[in-house]
Amino acid sequence: MIAELICVGTELLMGQVLNTNAQYIAESLAPSGIDMYHQIVVGDNPKRLTEAVRIAFSRADCVIFSGGLGPTDDDLTKETVAAALGKDLVLYGEEWERIVSYFASKGRTVAPNNKKQAMFPSDAIILPNPNGTAPGCIMEANGKAAILLPGPPRELVPMFRDYAMPYLLKRSGHRLYSREVRIFGVGESDVAYRLDDLFKNQTNPTIATYAKTGEVTLRVTAQCFTEAEGEALVSPVLSAIRDELGDCVYDTNGRELAKVCHDALIESKQTLAVAESCTGGRLADAFINYPGSSAYFIEGDVTYSNDAKMRRLGVRRKTLDTVGAVSEECAREMAEGCRKHAGTDFALATTGYAGPDGGEPDKPVGTVFVALACAEGTLVKRLNLFGDRDRIRHSAMLHALDLLRRNICTK
Ligand code: ATP
Ligand code: MG
Repeated sequence: MIAELICVGTELLMGQVLNTNAQYIAESLAPSGIDMYHQIVVGDNPKRLTEAVRIAFSRADCVIFSGGLGPTDDDLTKETVAAALGKDLVLYGEEWERIVSYFASKGRTVAPNNKKQAMFPSDAIILPNPNGTAPGCIMEANGKAAILLPGPPRELVPMFRDYAMPYLLKRSGHRLYSREVRIFGVGESDVAYRLDDLFKNQTNPTIATYAKTGEVTLRVTAQCFTEAEGEALVSPVLSAIRDELGDCVYDTNGRELAKVCHDALIESKQTLAVAESCTGGRLADAFINYPGSSAYFIEGDVTYSNDAKMRRLGVRRKTLDTVGAVSEECAREMAEGCRKHAGTDFALATTGYAGPDGGEPDKPVGTVFVALACAEGTLVKRLNLFGDRDRIRHSAMLHALDLLRRNICTK
């Protein structure tokens, strides 16, 4: 697809204003596969603008306009383009009300000539302008499109990025192909630091980060024509991320940690039981959330009191009396006892101080032990977690899931 840009404004021709809109738009189009062979700068003159519109449409599929959407008499882009495309302008009541309330919100009263900012062809696509009064618009005619954007860069940039660019991509037959990389075990800032070069040098695909409690997600998105092309663009970036972050990357298809465990347990035909103290049922819930979990999930024991830990899981009184319930030994005995009485391949256990009160001098609030028992033995991990009670309990659950994930998925 061929696009052309017409920047309208005598101030641009006179050199009073630097044409940064042209730079921004050209730079945004460059990696997208949409070609731009010409740009025009024209003054606020209807005759010369009409001529520019004619020339641009003779050689491009989409013509993008910058400037001249304001309320004054020299703002004539919309009127001129509509006339060139044989369209009449009508008042859009809703847009007019929006302009009136925009003025009211700034403590100003609207002038009658502002009305022209709410006039568009009846079949136009309106582009919202959260940063000013003049909405932009798209006029389609003869299989081509005119995209009209306001001149001030702080209005044009978000409108181009959020509305015009997606429209252009869709029209050009491009699609977006994305893969979601899920990461556990490194924080967001560490991910950003370690992938800095990759982030900086990437235009297609692009990489965006999202952080949730305890987890980081990267979305790698390519602009492409086919899924195969998208995959070809995205796949080397996924490999580069894996090379840098190793087995902290637990999925590249957007699955949750619990879902990765769920799928792996089903695939390997192994069973699981959980014994929870501080997570209080969250681990069991994380699995039972997925349909089909009955294939592997045998039982969950919420053993909050010492008595329940002894009675139901066989934790030794001596352990509780000497090192206490929040200890490596207790977590180990919980997992082993659970695995034994449930007869499963795996058992997970959690025990810790979720706060806000409690803890011990050498085991402050946030100290959590997670354990995984399986045929090969028992693994226990000590964690120092941060945050409020809810966050600590959530992180404890994720760490337990991660311990399981690392020990089934690698087999
Ligand atoms: P307004 O409602 O502010 O009049 P408009 O859509 O009519 O907006 P213009 O009147 O053409 O836009 O331009 C308004 C201001 O925006 C200009 O004075 C200039 O500061 C800035 N501007 C316009 N075009 C460009 C451009 N191509 N590059 C950078 N800045 C521009
Ligand atoms: Mg103006």
